[in-house]
Amino acid sequence: MLSDEEFALQRERMVRNQIERRGISDARLLAAMRSVPRHLFVPPDEAEFAYQDGPLKIGSGQTISQPYIVAVMTDLLELKGGETVLEVGTGSGYQAAVLAKLAGCVHTIERFEGLARRAQETLRRLGFGNVIVHVGDGSLGWPEGAPYEGIIVTAAAPTAPKALLEQLAPGGRLVIPVGGRDGQDLQRWVREGDRFEVESIFPVVFVPLRGASGWGEDEWERHAEWM
Ligand code: SAM
Repeated sequence: MLSDEEFALQRERMVRNQIERRGISDARLLAAMRSVPRHLFVPPDEAEFAYQDGPLKIGSGQTISQPYIVAVMTDLLELKGGETVLEVGTGSGYQAAVLAKLAGCVHTIERFEGLARRAQETLRRLGFGNVIVHVGDGSLGWPEGAPYEGIIVTAAAPTAPKALLEQLAPGGRLVIPVGGRDGQDLQRWVREGDRFEVESIFPVVFVPLRGASGWGEDEWERHAEWM
C-alpha cells in the first residue's frame, strides 16, 4: 500500500495532467479535486490505480467514473457555492464528495443498498456532513429535496427524465449522458422558466440508468441491435 504522501503526489499529477491540461480551469473545482482522496472511495485492491486516467470497478457490476469525466460534469453545473444539488448514481460516493466541496448540500441516490451504505460510511468517515445518501430509484429524482440548482446523472438514460427536469430550480442545470449501450451523448439542460435549453457536449460511455425512467434489462441489451 502506498503512503498518504505518495497518494497525494499521484493526485496532484492527476489534476495537472488529466484535468488542467485538458482545459478545466475553475479554481474551486481544481482545489476540490486536489483535496478529495479518491483512493479511499475505491475497493482496497484498486487503490493503487485510483489516480489513473480511467474508470475503475467498485462492485455490484458498477464503476467509478474517469477523473476527467467527473471534472467535466461538475464544471458544467457551474456551482458558485451554497447550491442544493442532486446526484443520481452514488456509486462509490466520490462524485458526491467533489460536489460537496463546491455546493451547500448534496442529495445523492443509489439503487444498490450495499453501494449506498459503503459510500455513506466513507463520506461520514471523511467528514462530509453536507451529503445525504438515499437508496431508491433516482430516475424519478428525489422530490423531497427539490428544487435543485444542479442535477447530475452518472448513468446512461434513454432520454432526460421528465421528473428530473421538473425538479430543477429556475436557471438550474441537468447534466446527463443520453443514449444506449453503444455510447451516449453528454447533455446539459438549462431551465429557463418552463422552457429548457439543451446542448450536446461530447460522446461518453456509462453504465445504464435503470428504473422507471431508465433502461429496462432487455431494452439495454437489445438497444445495440436497433442501431
Ligand atoms: N458517481 C459514482 C461515483 O462517483 O462513484 C459513479 C456512478 S456509476 C458510473 C453509476 C451508478 O448509477 C451505479 O452505482 C448504479 O448502480 C447507479 N444507478 C443506475 N440506475 C440508478 C437509478 N435508477 N437510481 C439510482 N442509482 C442508479
